[in-house]
Amino acid sequence: MNEIIDVISGHNRILVVGHIMPDGDCISSVLSLTIGLEKIGKEVKATIDYKVPYVFENFPHIEKIEENPTIEPDLILVVDASSPDRIGRYQYLLKDIPSAVIDHHSTNTLFGKWNWVDPSFAATAQMIFRLNRAMGVKYDPNLATLNYLGIATDTGFFRHSNADIRVFGDAYELVKMGADAHFVAKEILENKRFEQFKLFAEVLERLELLENGKIAYSYIDYDTYLKHNCTDEDSSGFVGELRSIRGVEVAILFMEFPRGKIHVSMRSKDWFNVNEVAFELGGGGHPRAAGVTFENRPISDVISEVIEHLLRRFKEGVSHESEKTSQRNLLGG
Ligand code: 5GP
Ligand code: MN
Repeated sequence: MNEIIDVISGHNRILVVGHIMPDGDCISSVLSLTIGLEKIGKEVKATIDYKVPYVFENFPHIEKIEENPTIEPDLILVVDASSPDRIGRYQYLLKDIPSAVIDHHSTNTLFGKWNWVDPSFAATAQMIFRLNRAMGVKYDPNLATLNYLGIATDTGFFRHSNADIRVFGDAYELVKMGADAHFVAKEILENKRFEQFKLFAEVLERLELLENGKIAYSYIDYDTYLKHNCTDEDSSGFVGELRSIRGVEVAILFMEFPRGKIHVSMRSKDWFNVNEVAFELGGGGHPRAAGVTFENRPISDVISEVIEHLLRRFKEGVSHESEKTSQRNLLGG
């Protein structure tokens, strides 16, 4: 972190870049860092090579994320992205302009000139929180709310296994400085379009269970999105719903949007490492939430390839798990 602070102090025109298909941690990290840098007097612009999902439209300063930022940066700060392809067209700037990467994905390829990557953090927003405070940034309620957003969303609102003591400590500090936790929960969780429910009904119709109900998967093809007047934004929470089914360890949702582009979202509940599977297929993520995207492929092909791969890994994992359980039983614990 101190190296990143030195780098920032030696540069004055900074472009902050988040990842495609931005989630709450991405939006939170981009805006918190951008506002932090503004507060210490830097010329700074923020951008993401993707449409900002509508659930973020009421957040303060959301308009700072520009589609075409007018700046000739001498430094690029990339947040929450594990590899260059994750920042879309901005990856092509990296060869000409020095960049620093701030991220919490264990699969990070360290593609910046400088890299602060720490998978022990549940959210990149926690790293930005530390960076901002170390740079002397003063927090107001809007900045606190924005910084809190990523911590809340990347922990599934403090429910996932990554919701550790440091997460609650950071949330406490931010709420103390004026973060509006209810606003964040309401905007993200209670802001669904009616059409989404119709779309989710299709997901349930097509739900398949494997391995005695431990694996659940379903799909949404492009025509189904069109039929319900929905986009990929509408399905972002669905895979978590599938994981919530009793007995399910792994949930997978295949989403074709737009035609020919298949995003695969994977979640696990207790022990299975979906990150490994995603990484082997060319994607990445975290042990309990990972993803991979395929271009120009029929969705049925992608489903069979991913499920076949998953089943192989899952069966290996099950035998390891049962070994561990029988050892625990032998030890009487
Ligand atoms: P989601 O399933 O919500 O799209 O993503 C879950 C996690 O997997 C996120 O942490 C995200 O960074 C990662 N992820 C999702 N899709 C991709 C992908 O195509 N490539 C990589 N490297 N990571 C992904
Ligand atoms: Mn994140």
